[in-house]
Amino acid sequence: MSGMKITFYGAALRVTGSCSLVECAGKRILIDCGMIQGDDNADELNHAEFPFEAASLDAVLLTHGHLDHVGRVPRLVAAGFSGPIFAHVATTALAEIVMRDSARLSDYEGKPLYDEKQVERTCKLMRPLRYRQEQDIEGVKIELFDAGHILGSSHALISGAGRRLLMSGDIGQPNSPIIRDPTTDWDESVDAVVIESTYGNRLHKGRAETLREFKKIVERAVANKGMLLIPAFAIGRTQELLYHFNHMVDAGEIPRLPVMLDSPMAERVTAVYRAHRECYDDVTWEGIERGDPPMSFPGLREIASAQESKTLKRTKPPAVIIAGSGMCTGGRILHHLKDFLDKESTTVIFVGWQGYGTLGRRLVDGEEKVRIYGEKIDVRAKIETLNGFSAHGDRDVLVAWAKEIPGSSKRFFVNHGEEDAARGLVAALSGAELSGHAVKSGESFEI
Ligand code: ZN
Repeated sequence: MSGMKITFYGAALRVTGSCSLVECAGKRILIDCGMIQGDDNADELNHAEFPFEAASLDAVLLTHGHLDHVGRVPRLVAAGFSGPIFAHVATTALAEIVMRDSARLSDYEGKPLYDEKQVERTCKLMRPLRYRQEQDIEGVKIELFDAGHILGSSHALISGAGRRLLMSGDIGQPNSPIIRDPTTDWDESVDAVVIESTYGNRLHKGRAETLREFKKIVERAVANKGMLLIPAFAIGRTQELLYHFNHMVDAGEIPRLPVMLDSPMAERVTAVYRAHRECYDDVTWEGIERGDPPMSFPGLREIASAQESKTLKRTKPPAVIIAGSGMCTGGRILHHLKDFLDKESTTVIFVGWQGYGTLGRRLVDGEEKVRIYGEKIDVRAKIETLNGFSAHGDRDVLVAWAKEIPGSSKRFFVNHGEEDAARGLVAALSGAELSGHAVKSGESFEI
């Protein structure tokens, strides 16, 4: 084979389980190896044998630290992979937290895929990179660029045998807090692009509007002297919420009130966010130079032990509790909901998508009674949903990102989206005179 070949083994006509194999100059490089989530047979799929020989891979490259991109990497190592795992330095730190969490099953339902020892072996193979640092894998060059999705998230440019392929990873929304926007300034033309399509057929509500709604909800909770519960995802969303609270408190837009971060995993992730200032955007740096770090403010308390978490029910409202899990499928949010859902002064804000069948979904759907720890609870709290905090670009953002990539005959391979979203993005690309194809699982392409 000359040139380059790509095969899609995951996140094809679905959002999760990212896993693509690039073959070039005799080298085999796997891009991401994520967990499959949300399907009825996800557990079976995650435990299935890989459709390739793990030991035959020369390297693995991770675009970012989300579970659906890194969740099966320790299984690769258990199956015989022993080469380098390249990722942005912040991604190596986040991936370790995520893989340890998944080994402990705290955020994932099913049989454990691996144990902590396998995670440790995996972490020893990690080779941290910086953005725009060229790395050679025996004739194949890789280089990472800001993807603006979560801390350390990367687009990966892979060059070899006279071909250039751009793997988008997940693409963030421009003007997201803390991190820089997705890269759009490219030097040389590319032959092919893999583009994600989570929201390939939808447009988001503006962030400014979402922030206004958020502020109103906080103000109302303060006026009602109520508790404000926010079930939050540990990576990205929690740090964004802290960023907005920091801003609202400092600007005097809301009164000072206690904000409790009650999730050990979110606290570890926030520490990684605080440590990697080199990923911050200019606005965040301006804050730091004024003496205002982005995720720290008066009133913020990080709750360490489960014991301390249980004492929060004696907190005098108004106060905010941010706790996982994001869809209320487990974690400390459950006992807070049990303590406060039956009070009219309580507000629960959902800031991310709620999967079918989860407690979060039942609350968003307006159920009047829910069962938590075997106890029936009357829902008297106000339930609010804010959908504008997405970490993914919407259709117009994706098309605008695609249009900036140089290359007169480049092809777009559309992955990481449900069928309607992937096909929606193909249509939108075609409207911009770009040629796209929604990839199926197992499909290969010569580039
Ligand atoms: Zn992601």
